[in-house]
Amino acid sequence: CGVMAIYNHPDAARMTYWGLYSLQHRGQESAGIASADGQNVNDIKGMGLVSEIFTDEVLAKLPGHMAIGHTRYSTTGDSALLNAQPISVESIRGLIAIAHNGNLVNLGNSRERLERDGAVFQTTSDSEIIIQLIAHSKASTLVDCIADSLSQVDGAFSIVMMTRNRIFAARDPHGFRPLSMGRIPGVDGAPDTFVFASETCAFDLLHAKYERDVKPGELVMVSEDGVTSRYFDTKTRQASCIFEHVYFARPDSRIFGRWVQKSREEMGRQLARESHVDADLVVPVPDSGVTAALGYAAESGIPFNLGLIRNHYVGRTFIQPEQRVRDFGVRMKLNPVRSLLEGKRVILIDDSIIRGTTSRKIVRMVRAAGATEVHLRISCPPTISPCFYGVDTPSKKDLIAANQSVAEICQFIEADTLAYLSLVGLTHSCTKGEPLHGLEPGDFCTACYTGDYPTQWVDVDEILPATT
Ligand code: 5GP
Ligand code: SF4
Ligand code: MG
Repeated sequence: CGVMAIYNHPDAARMTYWGLYSLQHRGQESAGIASADGQNVNDIKGMGLVSEIFTDEVLAKLPGHMAIGHTRYSTTGDSALLNAQPISVESIRGLIAIAHNGNLVNLGNSRERLERDGAVFQTTSDSEIIIQLIAHSKASTLVDCIADSLSQVDGAFSIVMMTRNRIFAARDPHGFRPLSMGRIPGVDGAPDTFVFASETCAFDLLHAKYERDVKPGELVMVSEDGVTSRYFDTKTRQASCIFEHVYFARPDSRIFGRWVQKSREEMGRQLARESHVDADLVVPVPDSGVTAALGYAAESGIPFNLGLIRNHYVGRTFIQPEQRVRDFGVRMKLNPVRSLLEGKRVILIDDSIIRGTTSRKIVRMVRAAGATEVHLRISCPPTISPCFYGVDTPSKKDLIAANQSVAEICQFIEADTLAYLSLVGLTHSCTKGEPLHGLEPGDFCTACYTGDYPTQWVDVDEILPATT
C-alpha cells in the first residue's frame, strides 16, 4: 500500500490526490482520502485507481487544510470496499482516521479482547486494530493513547493518522516499510506545509523537499504548535524490507536513506559479476527488471535493449489468480520484439520468480520470437518463504524455490541457464558506497530469502487480510 498525509495546505485533498497518484504502483485495488478543516473530518473511498475515484467533483467534497490518503492492494478477495482506507473510528477523543501500509502479526486475541471492551469493528482488516486500541486506551492524552497502542502491536506498520486538528505519522520499531517526511516552505512568512509519504517520489510532484525519514519506533505529531516527536520503542533491531529495493519502490524514490535506482543498478552489476554468461543481448522484463538490466549490461559490456514491450494499460489487478487467466494476462501485458530477439543469445533480467509460471511464459515467449538461447538472471536470491509484513507472496507450497532446486527451476521455466543474486550480493548492493544515512547490511529484513523472520513468532493462521 501507499500512504500520504499533508498538514497546512489550502487544497490538502488535491495535494493528497497528487501524492497518491505517484504512489499508485504500491496498490491499485482501492484508494481513499480523508480531509479535515479543524472541525469536521470527511472521507471518500472507492475501488480502482486514484484517477478513477477522485474527479474534481469528488475532491470538492473534501475541504480542509489537512488530509491523509491511501492506495491499497490486498491478497484476499475480501469485500474490498469495506476494507478500503482511510478507516475512521469515533472515540471519546473524537474521530480518528488511519491509513496503514504493512501487516500486523501476532494479533492473538486482541480483536476479541477489544470487542469485549465494546469495540465495534467496521472492517476485517488488521489496520483497524491499531485505531480501536487507540480508541479504547486508558491513557490520559491522545498522544499517550497512540504510543500505548503502537507499543502493543507487532509486525509492519507505516501509518499516518488524522484527527480534526492534528496529523500523526509512525513507523513500527523494525522499520519494515518506508515513510518519509517532507516540507513545502511557506511563502512570505506563512507557516510551512508538512507532508508524509510512503516514498519520496510523491514529494516531487508537490514541490515538497525531502526532510528526513520517520524513524523506526518513532511517532511524529504535527499540530498548531509545530512538529513534535517521541519514540514508543527504541530497543528493537531494525529490519527494513529489502524487497522494497528489489521490486516494490520506484527507482526515483529514496527509501531507508538510499536511492532505489542506485541499489537496483548495483544488483544488476553484482549479478553480472556473480553469474556471467556469454550472450548478445541483455533484455529486462519490464518494468521491474529495467534498472537491474541496465546495471547488468553496463558491467558485462553486453548491449541492452527493450526486447519485451509492456502494455501499460494492463494493471496488476488484471492478472487473475486462476492459472488459465493468469497465462493470458502475461501475454496481454508483455509482447516480444522479434526484430531484436531473432537469432540472439539473450540474457533476461527479472526481479523475482514466485510461482515460476510467469517466468516460464516469458522464457517461451522470447524463444518463440527467435532467441537461440535464453539465460534468466534474477536480481535477488530465491524466494523460499512467504512475507508476513505486507508483500503479496503466496504460501510456501506455491513458492517454486521453496520446493525445487535452482537446477530444477531452470528446467521448469525452460531456460538455458538460471542464476540468482546471492544474499551477500543483495545486501551489499543496497548499502554499497552509502557514506552517511544508509543502512548496514544487517539492518534489512531478508526473511523471504532466508526464512529468518525478524519478529518473534509468525502464525500463518493469525494473518488477517493483508493490506500492503
Ligand atoms: P512467476 O514466474 O513466479 O510466476 O512470476 C514472476 C514475475 O511476476 C516477476 O516479474 C514478479 O515480479 C511477478 N510476480 C508474480 N507473482 C507475484 C507475487 O505473488 N508477488 C510478487 N511480488 N510478484 C509476483
Ligand atoms: Fe520484505 Fe521479504 Fe521481509 Fe517481507 S519477508 S518484509 S518481502 S524482506
Ligand atoms: Mg516483474
